[in-house]
Amino acid sequence: MAKEQRKLSKKQKGSKNRFKKRIKVRKIQNKIRDTRRDFLHKTSNSIAKNYDGIVVENLNIKGMMKNHCLAKSIGDVSWSEFNRQLEYKCKWNFKHYIKIDRFFPSSKTCSNCGYVQDMPLSKRVFNCPNCGISIDRDLNASLNIKNIGLSTLGHSGINACGDGSLELSLKQEKECLVN
Ligand SMILES: [Zn+2]
Repeated sequence: MAKEQRKLSKKQKGSKNRFKKRIKVRKIQNKIRDTRRDFLHKTSNSIAKNYDGIVVENLNIKGMMKNHCLAKSIGDVSWSEFNRQLEYKCKWNFKHYIKIDRFFPSSKTCSNCGYVQDMPLSKRVFNCPNCGISIDRDLNASLNIKNIGLSTLGHSGINACGDGSLELSLKQEKECLVN
């Protein structure tokens, strides 16, 4: 699309070629939009169907969009729309949807022992000086998010076979939902 947009900008204003090029750019934009929409729906459907619940970190997406380095990649993956779909699809499928506080330091906390340390974005691996584990930064954060979500539901942790069945009444679920 960037290539076609560059070509468009070089066409003379009001010309027939510019008009044609604009139609071409519009077609590419539509194709990207449809592909993205399709991907988001398929992925959120699959998650809502195959898992008992989902825990998401309530990230400050608007704030992050103000960071120019992050804005493009965040915009590209449509996080807000993906989250919106996950939430309503979890409801449709009677699955748990839990949002955790965005001020919880999910990246800075050791998912194994709870030790907290500074983790600038450039550090991709969490090396814990307390318990000695070495784990991918994002995996560590996601384990923390999952654990917080499970404790919100009154669950002490995932069981040995890892299916993490959550047997709670809808009433309990409503009480636990954090918004
Ligand atoms: Zn640790």
